[in-house]
Amino acid sequence: MNTILRAIPAMDDLLNTPWVSEYLSALSRETVKEIIADTLNKIRREISDGALSYDDLNKLIEHRACEQLFLKSKASLRPVVNATGVVLHTNLGRSPLAGEALAAAAVIGSSYSTLEYDALGGDRGKRNSHVEWSLCRLTGAEAALVVNNNAAAVLLSLSALATDKEVIVSSGELVEIGGSFRIPEILKFSGAKMKAVGCTNSTKIDDYSNAITDDTAVLLKVHPSNYRIEGFVKSTSREELAHLAEKHSLVFMEDLGSGLLENLNINFAEKEHSVRECIKGGSAIVTFSGDKLLGGPQIGVIAGSKTLIDKIKNHQLLRALRVDKMTLAAFEATLRLYLCGRHSEIPVIKMIEMDKNELLKKAQNLCRLLRKICCDRVPLTFSVVETQDAIGGGSFPTDMLAGYGVAISCADESQSCKDLAASLRAAAVPVISTINEDRVILHVRTLLNGDETLISEAMRILITAP
Ligand SMILES: *Cc1c(COP(=O)(O)O)cnc(C)c1O
Repeated sequence: MNTILRAIPAMDDLLNTPWVSEYLSALSRETVKEIIADTLNKIRREISDGALSYDDLNKLIEHRACEQLFLKSKASLRPVVNATGVVLHTNLGRSPLAGEALAAAAVIGSSYSTLEYDALGGDRGKRNSHVEWSLCRLTGAEAALVVNNNAAAVLLSLSALATDKEVIVSSGELVEIGGSFRIPEILKFSGAKMKAVGCTNSTKIDDYSNAITDDTAVLLKVHPSNYRIEGFVKSTSREELAHLAEKHSLVFMEDLGSGLLENLNINFAEKEHSVRECIKGGSAIVTFSGDKLLGGPQIGVIAGSKTLIDKIKNHQLLRALRVDKMTLAAFEATLRLYLCGRHSEIPVIKMIEMDKNELLKKAQNLCRLLRKICCDRVPLTFSVVETQDAIGGGSFPTDMLAGYGVAISCADESQSCKDLAASLRAAAVPVISTINEDRVILHVRTLLNGDETLISEAMRILITAP
C-alpha cells in the first residue's frame, strides 16, 4: 500500500500537466492547488481504507481533479430553461424580470445613486421613498414600506405592532409556506403571543371576539397559500374582522402572500384578492411579496395605514431587513410598468395570460424543431400534447392553466424517460422538464425568448453523445 501511496505524483508535477493549466486563469494557481490537494487527500484516504482499486492511479487522479476543477471554475448560480409549466417556480427563482427592471438594476448597480440622497436639497434622503408613492398609488394604501422579502415584512410588522402582546389568528391559517416559513414560528420570533382560535375548518367571528383581552394587539389573517381544505369550510370575512378590530381599537393585519396588483385576465373558479381590495376591505396592514404575482424582484411590501407604517419604519429591526439598491431599482421599474398600464408585458403576467392558440403554435414549432434535429438517428418520438400548467408561488393552488407542450418518449425500452430528463438537465444550460406517463414533457408556457435554441442545443448534444 505504501508503494501505491508513494506513486501519487507530486503537486508541482501535477500543476504543470496540460489538463490543469487550462484552469489556472479561471481559478488562480493557489485555488487550483488547494482543489487538487483536497482530491489527493481523499484518494489517499480511500486507498488506506481499502475502498479503492487503483489500476491506473494517474487516470483516476486526473478524472477526479478535473471534475472538481470544472465544477468550481463555472458560475454556480446560472440560468436554466424552465420547461415545467410552473410560472412562479420557487426553486427556479420565481419571476424573471422585465427588460426595464433589468436595465434599471444594471444602471443603478454600476453607478452612484440617489439611494439615500435628495439631489435637489443636497440632503440625506430615504431609501424607501423611491417606491412608496407608486405603491400607494397602485394599492390605495396611505403608506408603504419595503424590506427584503415577505417573510421579513410579516416579522417586522408583528415585531413593531405586537411584541409582548397577543395576536389572534384562525387555527385554519397556521400554515407552513415553502418548507420554512411557519406562521407560529414567525409569531414566536416577533415576541408576540399567538392565540389560535376556531377549528381547522371553521373559524367564526365570535371565536375572534371571545378571545380578545386587554393584552390583544392584532387580529391576523393569513392567506393559506397552497393549502386548501375541502368540504365544510367556514372562515370569517375581511370586512367582519376589520369591523371587529375597529370596535376594539386593534390592528387588523393581513398576510396576503402574492401581492396581486391588477386582476389577471384568466378564467379561474377561485379568486385571488388584489392588494387594493384588501385595503378597501379594511385591512390596516397588508404584507406581500414582490416576486410572486407582482412579477418583480424578491422584496417584501408592507402597505396600509400611515400611523402604523410610521411605527414600523421606526423599528430597529428594519436596518437588518433593508433592501439592496439593485433590487430597489428593479422594483421601482416594475411598478412603473403598472403605473403606465403596461403590466401585461411583465414576463410572469404574460406567461399566465398567454392565449391557448399561441401556446399551441409554440408547441408545434418546438416539436418540429426537435424532430428535425433528431431525424431518425435516435429512438425518440415527439408529439404535441395538452398540459396542465400552474401559476405556483402559492397562488391559485387548485386551478390549473390549460397549456401545451412537447412529449418525448423513448421507443427503446432500455432508455428510461428518467435518464432522458437527467440528460436534459446535464446540458450547458440545464433544461428542467416534467415526467408524465413515461414521457418527458416540455411545457412551452414557461419558455422565455431563446429557450427553444437552448433546448435544441441540449438535444443535439444528447443525440451525439456516445
Ligand atoms: C410566499 C408567502 C410568504 C413568504 O414570502 P417570501 O417573499 O417568500 O418571503 C409568506 N406568506 C404567504 C401567505 C405567502 O404566500
